[in-house]
Amino acid sequence: MDTRAVRYFRWLLFWQQQGRCCYCREHVVLTYRPYDAARPYAATLEHLQRRADGGTGHPANLAMACKHCNNTRGERDWLSYASWRQSN
Ligand SMILES: [Zn+2]
Repeated sequence: MDTRAVRYFRWLLFWQQQGRCCYCREHVVLTYRPYDAARPYAATLEHLQRRADGGTGHPANLAMACKHCNNTRGERDWLSYASWRQSN
């Protein structure tokens, strides 16, 4: 997926998810600036089924997550990670 597509889906999902991370439900910040994009609350485009597991860039497989969740999810599947995040 090229950068423009990533930005478009991030923006779309930001509105669909009312500005909240799909895992921890915290508010995220949409930014294009690399300095801000490195922050834990920056919005990132997440593949629900990991690309390593055959997940595609199809819109049905995309969600918006904060950078912190995106970085710490590791190899867990998205549903168990989301329930773990919301129970902690
Ligand atoms: Zn999060």
